[in-house]
Amino acid sequence: MNNCIFCKIINKEIPSNIVYEDDKFLAFLDIAKATNGHTILIPKKHVKNVLECDDETLGEMMIIAKKIATNLITKLGAEGCNILTNCNEVAGQTCFHFHIHIIPRYNDLDGFEPHFTDNKNKELSVDEILNKIR
Ligand code: 5GP
Ligand code: ZN
Repeated sequence: MNNCIFCKIINKEIPSNIVYEDDKFLAFLDIAKATNGHTILIPKKHVKNVLECDDETLGEMMIIAKKIATNLITKLGAEGCNILTNCNEVAGQTCFHFHIHIIPRYNDLDGFEPHFTDNKNKELSVDEILNKIR
C-alpha cells in the first residue's frame, strides 16, 4: 500500500530500529515506547488487521511474537508482557497495516495500563449475549 507507514518501514523508506526480520515478517521498536522494549511485529504482506490476515501467516506470527517476547523479557529483565493487537479504529488501531504489539512489563507503573471495566451495566444480559454468539 503506497501511503502505509509500515510498508514504508518494510521497504526501508522510513528508518526503524529493527528487532527481528525474515522473508515474511519484520519487528521493530515502537516509536512511542509504552515501556522499554515495546516492539511492533508486522507481516510484510499488507493486510489491514488481524481479521484480514490468513490463518497460516497468523499462526507463524504468533510463534515469532512468543520468541520475541521471551527474548525481550530475558534480556531486559521484565517480569512479563502484554501481547495484543488493536483491530479497527474503535479498538484504538491507528496504523492500518496489521501489527502485534509486544510490550514487556516491569511493574504496575511502567507506562502501560490496560483497563477492563465491569460490564454489568451494559445493555445486554449475559444470557442475551450467549444466545447471540453461541
Ligand atoms: P495501533 O494504535 O495502530 O495499534 O499502533 C500503532 C503503533 O505504531 C503505535 O504504538 C505507534 O507509536 C507506532 N508507530 C506509528 N508510526 C510509527 C513509525 O513511524 N515508526 C515506529 N517505529 N512506530 C510507529
Ligand atoms: Zn502496509
